[in-house]
Amino acid sequence: MLRFAVAGSPLSTPTPGGSVKGLERAHALGIKAMELEWVQSVPKNPQRMAEIRETAERLDISLTVHAPYFINLNSPDVAKLAASKKRIWDALAMAELCGARSVCVHPAFNLGQSPDVAYANVRRATADIMEMKLKLFPHVNLAYETMGKATQFGTLEEVLRLSKEFDIYPCVDPAHMHARENGKINSKEEWNAMFDLYEEFLGKASLKFVHMHFSGIAYTEKGERHHLPLQESDAKWEDFLTVLKERKIEGTVVCESPLMEEDTLLLQQTFEIKRNAENRNVPVQRIQRL
Ligand SMILES: [Zn+2]
Repeated sequence: MLRFAVAGSPLSTPTPGGSVKGLERAHALGIKAMELEWVQSVPKNPQRMAEIRETAERLDISLTVHAPYFINLNSPDVAKLAASKKRIWDALAMAELCGARSVCVHPAFNLGQSPDVAYANVRRATADIMEMKLKLFPHVNLAYETMGKATQFGTLEEVLRLSKEFDIYPCVDPAHMHARENGKINSKEEWNAMFDLYEEFLGKASLKFVHMHFSGIAYTEKGERHHLPLQESDAKWEDFLTVLKERKIEGTVVCESPLMEEDTLLLQQTFEIKRNAENRNVPVQRIQRL
C-alpha cells in the first residue's frame, strides 16, 4: 500500500491542537499518514508519545518523523558534532515510543570539503549513531534525506551508498533533486532512473517500504529556495504519480507543499483515480478539490 502523508498537523486542525488533534483532523479528511515535524526540537514527554501512538493506531494512520534541522554530521567542531548526534538519538528514541517507522534527517553540510572527505566524516558519525540505535531503537529507521543545495551533503548516490552500508533506507526527495539539478529530475524517464538506482543499491523489495518527500519547489542556480504548492510549480506531479503507480511503489510519500492537507489530498485522490482507471480501464476524470 502507498500512503500520502501530510507534513505536520493539517492547517485546518482546531487550535490549540498538537499532534493528537492533528491526527484526528487528518483522519476526518481521509488522510492515512502523517509526518511529525520535530524540525525545531524533539519533544521530551514519553506520555505524549504514548497518546500519539494510541491515536495513530486507533485511526490507522502511519507515522514518520522529521528530525531537527540543526544537524551537521560533517562538523569539525566536536561539540556541534556531539549535539548533532544527540538530536538524532533523541528523535529516534521518541519516534520509537510513538510508533513512527522512520526518521528523516538532513545529514550534513559539505563545508567546501571534497565529497570523499565529507562522506567519510558522515559515515564515521553514522557508525556511532547506529551502534546505539541497534541496541535501543531497533524498529525505527534512520532516513538520510536527498538535499536541495550543492552546499549540502546528500546526493541520491550519497544517501543510497550510506543506507546500503548500514542496512537502513533513505528519504528520497525528488523535489530537492529537481532543485539541486536545476530543473532536471522532472520526467518519467528521470524518476524511473532514480528508482532504478534505488533498487540497484537497496534491492527490489526496498521499494515496498519507501519514506519519500514530494512537493513543488522554487529554485535558483544555487538550488532549493522554498517549497511550493503543486499547481503553482513546474513539477510534473501527475507524471510522478504515474511512475509510483507503474512501479507499484509502497510505503509513505510525505507531501511537503505549503498547502499541506489540500495538496496531500490532491496527490492521494489523483493517485487513486489513476489506479482505479487502470483497474477498470476507464478514462481519468477531474477530481473534486477541497
Ligand atoms: Zn527535510
